[in-house]
Order: sequence, then structure tokens, then C-alpha cells
Amino acid sequence: MTRPQVRADLALMPGYHSAQVDVEVRLNTNEAPEPPPEEFQQQLNACMRDIAWNRYPDRMATVLRSAIAQIEQVHNAELTASNVFAANGSNEVLQTILLAYGGFGRKAMTFEPTYALHSHIAKLVGTEVISLARGADMLIDTDVAIAEIAHHRPSVVLVCSPNNPTGMVEPADTILSLVEACETYSALLVVDEAYGQFAPSSFLTRVSEEAPMVVNRTYSKTWSLAAARLGYCVGPTWLVEELYNVCLPYHVDAFKQLGGVVALDFVDEMRDRIAGMVDQRDVVAERLAAMDVQVWPSGANFILFRPNALDATDVWQRLVDLSILVRNCASWPGLENCLRVTIGTPVENQRFCDALEKIVGPQ
Ligand SMILES: *Cc1c(COP(=O)(O)O)cnc(C)c1O
Repeated sequence: MTRPQVRADLALMPGYHSAQVDVEVRLNTNEAPEPPPEEFQQQLNACMRDIAWNRYPDRMATVLRSAIAQIEQVHNAELTASNVFAANGSNEVLQTILLAYGGFGRKAMTFEPTYALHSHIAKLVGTEVISLARGADMLIDTDVAIAEIAHHRPSVVLVCSPNNPTGMVEPADTILSLVEACETYSALLVVDEAYGQFAPSSFLTRVSEEAPMVVNRTYSKTWSLAAARLGYCVGPTWLVEELYNVCLPYHVDAFKQLGGVVALDFVDEMRDRIAGMVDQRDVVAERLAAMDVQVWPSGANFILFRPNALDATDVWQRLVDLSILVRNCASWPGLENCLRVTIGTPVENQRFCDALEKIVGPQ
């Protein structure tokens, strides 16, 4: 048999994987360090009996989308369910956006280094990717970006803010300039706010029918629900309608719709947890600042740092030997010798800081 061959443009693409090592302190994938509240599990169990398992779920996930819109009204009072599209993780949201607005013969623009799945998913759906390098300060150079948008005419421009893996928040002026450029050249601006709840501000305030911009969010980080695979975007109603033309029917199952609604009953508890994580981020940042590493300012639940005098992969291995796992970004373009640590529980953070301090020494 000659085996069937995958598309030529996919044949050379490596998959996307994050190394999982069995350790006591896992600070490598930016998940929440704690499970959702116990009462969430109880309430979900109780509600589960009401699911009509023999029936297809609500295809438009109306209750879930209304609940999400209501939560996000703190940023933008105009939002309703028809501004929200939900899917199996914000990665599926991105895939749906790129299926609708990218695809063969079209281009997507990214600003590297950034979330690897932006370019990966774009390529999977046949979109040509134009990768621009960030400036030395790790932020987007607005003038370069606008000139390149004018030159390449991408259909989709992908921005991650706070950016993974740098943690840095893009200035509002940059996003506003990019929206303007997208308006001029009929492109769509996607702002990935997977870590938006940890940042001081959100671009949800700017979502409107007139702006070609959509903001992507997820239950995976803030809501302690990475296992549930639930994400959403908030954008103009005309965009949401197009996304529902592209996604598979009933793509969000009844159990997940229910879980997503029940989770939002615990919004006060989650906001308290986020405030605690932000405090812990500042504690870790302060300790890193006293060590022999370079640190970038973070608006997310992780921090990027670079050992000044040691090889990052050696540092990574020595942490693993102490049963602490961080993300090794040393081989990623633009992130030479960098490591990324997720903010964990106070105990985990202290253990990480004590270990790293011994390895790299003081500033
Ligand atoms: C973690 C992360 C996501 C989340 O993806 P899900 O599919 O919702 O788990 C999206 N974007 C970025 C930048 C992330 O880091």
C-alpha cells in the first residue's frame, strides 16, 4: 500500500506539544494552581441531572453566551449574547476565526515571539503567515506594523495581550492604531486576552459593531477549568454570525455549556483568587529582580526571565532535579536563554524562588 499523503503544506509542519515531566511543582503551562471551588463541583453534579442526554444540546448555547455577556458587561455595558461566540477552548475559537477570515490565498500576521498556536492554527487552515519581529523592548513597533499591514494586506492580524510568553501588555495606543489600520485595509484584528483578567485593563471596552476587532478569552486560566476546554470571543454581532456559519453543528456539548454557566456563579471567588495571584506575581517579580536574571514586566499569571550568567537549559534541568518544572523557551526564536515560570500557590512560588536563587545567585 502506498499510504495516503497529507496536504503538502502540512507535511513539514511539526505538531504542538508541551513537555510533561512528573514533578511536584508544575509551573510550566500557565494553568490555575488550584481546582475550582468545591461548591462548583457540587452545583454541577446537581444540575447534571437536568441534562436531556438523548437530545442534541442548544446549538446556539444561548444561556451560556448570555451568562458570559453579563459577566463581561463590567468592561462594556453594550454586550449581549449575540456578541459572544463560545467553543472548545479559545484555541477552537481561533481556529473558527481563521477558517472564516483566513484560509487558502489569505494571510495572517503575527508579532513574534508570541503564542505559538496563532501561527500554527493559521497554517493548519491553509493561511499564509506573515511573522513580524517585535522591537528590542518586546513590544509591537506600531509604525512597522502599519507599514507591513499596508504592504502585505493580511486578512487577520493576531495580537496577544498580555503576550504569551513575555507577559507584557501592549499599550492601548498600539491596539487603537492596529484597529485603524485593519479598518483601512479590511482586515480583522484578533486580540487574544487569555490572560486578560490578570492585566490592569482590557480591550473589551473597545468592542463595537463599527470596529473590526474581536477579543478572545478562556476558562482555562482564570476559571481553573483547563480540563473543560471552554473558551469564547467577544466581537461585533456580524462577526459572531459568520463564526456560527463555520463551526460544526452542536460543537459545544450540553455538559460543557452547563459547566460554563455554573462556573460564572462563582465570579466573586474567582476575582478574589485573581487578586491573590496578582499579589503573588508581584512577590515573585520582586524576588527575581534581586537575582542574577533579566526579568520582563508581566500583566499575566507567569513571568519571563533570562539567566545572565548561566545556560537556561542547565538552570531548567537543575530545577527539574529539585522537582520544579518551568517552561524552557531557550530555543524559541527571539527568546534566547529564556525561561517562563507560571505563578502557582504561595508555597510553590516560594519553593521556586528559593531554588532559583541558589542556582543563579544574587544580582
Ligand atoms: C493558554 C492560552 C490560550 C488558551 O487556550 P484554550 O484552548 O482556551 O485552553 C489561548 N491563548 C493563549 C495566548 C494562551 O496562552
